[in-house]
Amino acid sequence: MSDEGFDRGTALSLLADESRVRIIEELGDATVSPDTGIPSVPYADLKSRVGIRDSGRFNYHLTKLLGNYVAKGEAGYRLRWPGMVLYRALVAGLLTGEADRSIDPAPVGVDCYRCGEPVEGHLYETLFRVRCSACEANYADIYVPPRGLVGKDPEAMLETVHRRSRTVLDAMSSGQCPWCAAEVAVEIRDGDGSLPSLHDTRDLEAYAVFRCTNCTGFNYTPVSQVLLYHPAAIAFYHEHGRDLTAVPKWELRWAVTDETTEVLGRDPWRFRVRVPLPGETLVAVIDQHLDVVESRIEEAEG
Ligand SMILES: [Zn+2]
Ligand SMILES: [Zn+2]
Repeated sequence: MSDEGFDRGTALSLLADESRVRIIEELGDATVSPDTGIPSVPYADLKSRVGIRDSGRFNYHLTKLLGNYVAKGEAGYRLRWPGMVLYRALVAGLLTGEADRSIDPAPVGVDCYRCGEPVEGHLYETLFRVRCSACEANYADIYVPPRGLVGKDPEAMLETVHRRSRTVLDAMSSGQCPWCAAEVAVEIRDGDGSLPSLHDTRDLEAYAVFRCTNCTGFNYTPVSQVLLYHPAAIAFYHEHGRDLTAVPKWELRWAVTDETTEVLGRDPWRFRVRVPLPGETLVAVIDQHLDVVESRIEEAEG
């Protein structure tokens, strides 16, 4: 086997054997360490860890993985990057274990900006959803790998969901897919009452859609939400002694509604967003590419 990797069919068909999955798991467990880098596991160690006594059988499966998932060196065996990706998907629970997860809706500490009822977080299939169950306004809808949620109390869970949401949307709004690293296309759509999620009844005049050009990854947000990742808004909060990156977006009225967003033009799209803090307001102009083309700080009225 050359070192050039397998084609897709081979890469996947190789995993149809439990012994090979065990080899990948054991190599991952044995070698992933920030202290030692990625050392190799000697043949005999690996064989005993995997627990296959029959050398012929063990060699057969190990050899199958060489070239793409596993590399062989003088000191033994280690995972190559595709093997590491697979190992991490396994331990994150990406491919397994959703049946045992059920999370009762719990309040997130803010009232719905649309109807005033408490906003709740809950798990819907594989998505963590932050929404108002009274009027179905949706404030976050994000996939969190199962491993990120198990064993956590509601508060810790919400922190995880917040960080996950930032990771995903920061990547998407900067033009790179968080799942496959391909280019993300951005488009602004008229909020004609049919938002991409059936579970979102927010009344947005316009919204931004981020779509991966490669892997079907997609997300949508109010236009103002790009400011969550922009230095102008992060600095504005910092000047006020607050860390914008630490605030869950559902706590930010300006980010999850368009109540402080004004449409300046539709062809091309142009928006003015006001981000209020005590005493001052950040005023940012956003163009059709979601670039912030102007920003200034105004003293708050009154
Ligand atoms: Zn509501
Ligand atoms: Zn992608």
